Amino acid sequence: MTIEKPSNTEDEYFARENAERLRQLHYEEQKRLRQSEKDALRALHAGRCPQCGALMVPEDAAGVRILHCPACGGAFLDNTAWDVLHAHSEPARVMDAVLNWFKSANKP
Ligand SMILES: [Zn+2]
Repeated sequence: MTIEKPSNTEDEYFARENAERLRQLHYEEQKRLRQSEKDALRALHAGRCPQCGALMVPEDAAGVRILHCPACGGAFLDNTAWDVLHAHSEPARVMDAVLNWFKSANKP
């Protein structure tokens, strides 16, 4: 799945509509799946990159745990990482540190 940056109001409208459609599909799938299927999916995908499936490497940037994919350069922040960001007194400063870490980690 590719998420493109909208270029105008009409594009933004369709991007929001598409995101809402995907949220609805996710909600319906979660209702449909049995717990055993959810457990199997978790066992299969835990710690793996959502884009390429490679094993992700845990990294620390300014106290935030990032799962970094060395294969495609992607990164993932789990709920704990977001909680740390939201609870910090200066979340923008921490996010800057995370972005700087990400930039240096993905230099060619
Ligand atoms: Zn990847």
